[in-house]
Amino acid sequence: MIGLRSLAKRIAHLVIRLLFRPAILSSLPRSAGAAVCLTFDDGPHRQNTERILRILEKEDVRATFFVKGKACELYPDLVRAVVAQGHEVANHGYSHLAPNEATLAEYVADVERGQRVLEAVVGHRVPRLFRPPYGRINVGTFLALWRRGYSFILWSTDSRDSYITEPDDVVANVLECPVGPGSIVLLHEDYDWTVEALPAVIAMIRSMDLRFATLASVRSFPVDVEVEFDAEEEERCA
Ligand SMILES: [Zn+2]
Repeated sequence: MIGLRSLAKRIAHLVIRLLFRPAILSSLPRSAGAAVCLTFDDGPHRQNTERILRILEKEDVRATFFVKGKACELYPDLVRAVVAQGHEVANHGYSHLAPNEATLAEYVADVERGQRVLEAVVGHRVPRLFRPPYGRINVGTFLALWRRGYSFILWSTDSRDSYITEPDDVVANVLECPVGPGSIVLLHEDYDWTVEALPAVIAMIRSMDLRFATLASVRSFPVDVEVEFDAEEEERCA
């Protein structure tokens, strides 16, 4: 027979799991099976977005693009081209801030601005999927954005393409991470070597009997999140 204390503990665990379950993902849910999610950060990019789209189209792969609000304003047509090709677009902040580069209120406002710009450019609501720049989260940014309905999307497989210049090294890093069922692969739009490596990365993942998926295709995320802003609380955050 379960004692009251142990029952209360179980209920508390269940509540915490339900509350935070969708909040931080570094891999796909188990139900996604052999799916892998390719993610491209920091776009849209003047030259590379279209190059990446051509490769993905040829390979019949759908991917997830974490875009910067500021770049969306510069290249709205590229964002719309990404969506038109069936890919997922999500929020990477408006000006790519790290938590220590701003007050909490400024940081949250920047993420919200990124979401607003993205939705204005694509012309509809998009799930509140946020990839924190540099993968950096602290308790304050987590709680403030979680309360506003954001899920934090990190990664399990880092191509480390920001630190290398050879396409072969991008492929090797993805393989070594390793990549497998449920992996979320981190790539960037900025680099020629990432674009050049992409066909080989896709071929390697396919050779492992894995398939490609976007985040929202393997898990449902709320789209219509209405959050009331509390001016006093904003003041305290600052
Ligand atoms: Zn970034």
